[in-house]
Amino acid sequence: HLKAGFSEHLSTCCYCGVGCGVSIQKDPLGRIWVEGEQGHPVNQGQLCSKGMNLHHTVNDTSDRLLYPEVRFGRSQPRQRVSWDVALERTAAVFSSLIEKYGPDSVAFYASGQCLTEEYYVINKLIKGYIGSNNIDTNSRLCMSSAVVGYKMSLGEDSVPVSYEDLDVADVIFVAGANPAWCHPILWRRVEAAKERNPDLKIIVSDPRKTQTCSIADVHLQLNPGTDIVLHHAIGRALIEMGAIDVAFVSNHTEGFAHYQESVMQRTLEEAAELCGVSINDILTTASYIKEAKGFMTMWTMGLNQSAVGVSKNLSLINLNLITGQIGRPGAGPLSLTGQPNAMGGREVGGLSNLLPAHRDLMNPAHRAEVEDFWAVPRGRIAPKPGLSATEMFEALESGKLKAVWIICTNPLISMPDVRRVEQAFKKAKFVVVQDISHRVETLAYADVVLPAASWAEKEGTMTNAERRVSYLPKVLNAPGEALPDAEIICRFAQKMGFKGFDFNHSADIYAEHVQLTQGTNVDMSGLSHALLKEKRTLQWPYISGQSDQGTARLFSDNQFYTSSQKAQIHTVSDENTSEKVSNEFPLILTTGRIRDQWHTMSKTGKVNKLKQHIHESFLEIHPDDAAQLGIQDQSLVEIKNNRGEVRVKAKLSPDIKKGVVFLPMHWGKLGNMDLNRANNLTNNLVDPKSKEPDFKFSAVSVKAY
Ligand code: SF4
Repeated sequence: HLKAGFSEHLSTCCYCGVGCGVSIQKDPLGRIWVEGEQGHPVNQGQLCSKGMNLHHTVNDTSDRLLYPEVRFGRSQPRQRVSWDVALERTAAVFSSLIEKYGPDSVAFYASGQCLTEEYYVINKLIKGYIGSNNIDTNSRLCMSSAVVGYKMSLGEDSVPVSYEDLDVADVIFVAGANPAWCHPILWRRVEAAKERNPDLKIIVSDPRKTQTCSIADVHLQLNPGTDIVLHHAIGRALIEMGAIDVAFVSNHTEGFAHYQESVMQRTLEEAAELCGVSINDILTTASYIKEAKGFMTMWTMGLNQSAVGVSKNLSLINLNLITGQIGRPGAGPLSLTGQPNAMGGREVGGLSNLLPAHRDLMNPAHRAEVEDFWAVPRGRIAPKPGLSATEMFEALESGKLKAVWIICTNPLISMPDVRRVEQAFKKAKFVVVQDISHRVETLAYADVVLPAASWAEKEGTMTNAERRVSYLPKVLNAPGEALPDAEIICRFAQKMGFKGFDFNHSADIYAEHVQLTQGTNVDMSGLSHALLKEKRTLQWPYISGQSDQGTARLFSDNQFYTSSQKAQIHTVSDENTSEKVSNEFPLILTTGRIRDQWHTMSKTGKVNKLKQHIHESFLEIHPDDAAQLGIQDQSLVEIKNNRGEVRVKAKLSPDIKKGVVFLPMHWGKLGNMDLNRANNLTNNLVDPKSKEPDFKFSAVSVKAY
C-alpha cells in the first residue's frame, strides 16, 4: 500500500553472507528506508539490527566521495579531476610500470562486498589482459580455508546444503562461530527449529561463552588452537561407539583406515586435557551425533582464520563423512560466509589462485579454456598463483610490487600486523583507492581516488552462503560523480586499450560470466538478470531447462566432485602451529565481531542507533586473569606484543576462557591515534594451503595502564 510517488524495490542486504531479502521503499525526495522482505526464503521478513538500519547508511551522504581526485606528484595535494583524466593517469602509470617491471608489478585488492559482475571484470582485466594473477580480496581473510577444505574433501568449493536443512536437522554442531551475533537471522532459524523440536541438540565449540551458547546443549569451551584435537576425539568416540556409517564410508569415501589409525593414537583423556573440556562433554557430543538422523556442522572464522585453518576444516567435515551425514535433508557441512558475496567472488575465480567457474589455475587445459573464451592469446594467463592478501602487502613493502588498486575494502584496519601494512603503503609507488567514503584510512596514501556507487546505487548480483544468487537493483543515483565499480573498471580497461570490456549493461557482464560456467559443476548458465528479477533468488547449479527452482542440495547421489567421485577423508596433524605464548606474552588474543557493527565500520559506524549496543572497543578478560594483573572492570589496560599495542577499557567476564583475551576487530583510529585497532597485535602467519591469516591466536601481555 504505497503512497503516490513512493516506490518499492526488492534487494538483498549487503552485510553478512546470510543474504536476507530487503524491501527498499523510496519516497519522492529520493530517500529510502528498508524492511525485511516478506516471503523471502532466507529471512521471511526479518532483519537484524544492521540490516534494519541500512537506509541510514545510504541516506546519509555526508561522508561520500563525490569526485575523482589525482595527485600528480607525491609532494603535491590531490586535486579534483574528470573521470577521463583520473583513468588516463592511472592507465598511463599502470602501463609504464607493467612495461618496466612486468605485469606482476601491479595488483588489485578487492572485497567480498563487491558484486559478482564487479569481481568478474576485475578478474578478467588482470588475469586475461594484464597477464598477472595479482588479484586478491578480503575474502582471503575470511573464507579461503573453507574453500580449500571443500576442494580437498568434496572435490570442489561447493557448499552442499541449504538453510532449509537447519529446519530438519536434529544435531547442529557450531564450531568457532557466534552466529547469534554475526549471522543473526540464520541463527533465529535455528532458535525457531529448537523451539519446534526441543530434541534438537545444539553443540557449540568456542573459547568464549557467546550468545550462541544460550541455547546450546553442550558448550565445549576449548582452548584456542585445539579444534582438531577436539574433532579427532569426537571421531574416536564415534568409532568406539560403533557410530560409523560403514556402507557410506566404504562405498563413497576414501581415507578412513588411515584416519581411524590416526585418531586412535590420542586417548580421550589426553584430548580432553589438551582441549580443556571434559571427557563427558566429548562423549555426550558423540552420542548425540550417533543418534542423529540429520547432523549438520556449521563454522566460520574460529576455524578459518588459523595457521591450520584448512586442517581444522577437514577435521570437522570428516565428522560428516564418517557418519554418512551428507547429501540428504538435514545433514552436511555449512560454512557461514562472513561477507555478502564471498561466494560470488569464488564463482568468478576472484582470488589470486583461482580461475572462473571453479577452474584450476594450475591446469593448462583450464587456462586455455578461459583464454579462448576471453579471446586473449594462449599463454596470457600466468601459470602460477598471484600474490595473496598478506603477500601483496609484503611485496609492496619490499618494493617488488609497485602499484596497488584497493576496491571497497579498508586494509589499514582489517589486515593482520597492520602497522606493517602502513609501512607498505608508504613504500608503494602508486596507490589507487576506489571507495564510497572519505573516512577510509587508505585515502591518506592514495595517488588516485575513484568515487564509487554504493549499495542501492548500482545493480548486479550476489551469492549467499547457501549458493543462492540474488539480483540487487539500482534504486538511487549515486551522489556527485560516483560510478558503479564495474563501470569504473571497464572504463579503465578501455583506457588501457583492451577490447572485451565494452559492456553496455551490468546484465551483459552477468551473461558473459554465466556462459563461462556452462558444463561445470557450478553451472548457472540458465540464470540471467531478467530471470533473477522475476524469481528473486535461485540456487546454483541452475541449468537452462533442467530445473525451475535451482539446486537445494548437492551430492544426493553420493557422487562427489573428486576424480574418483568419492569424498576424501583426510588425515591431518592436530598440532597447532600458531605463535607460542611466552613469559613475556603469556595470554592468547583472539579477535572477532560484535553484534551491531560491520567490518571496519565505514557504514555501520555512521548509524547512532548501532552504537547503542557497544559504543567503544574493549578487552574481554577473565576475572581471575584480571585479578592477577590488578585490573578492574572498566579500567584502562594496555595489550602489547612485539608488533604493537592497544589501549582500551577492560571488560571482566567469566564467559571467556582463562588465559584468553578478546578484542573486537572493528575499530581503527581514535582521533589521530590507532590505539584501539586490534590488528596492531595480530600476526601475518598464514595457513600454508589457504594463505588465510591466524587472526584468532596472537601472544600478548596485558597490564593496567
Ligand atoms: Fe543483513 Fe546478515 Fe543481518 Fe540478514 S543477518 S539482515 S544479511 S546482516
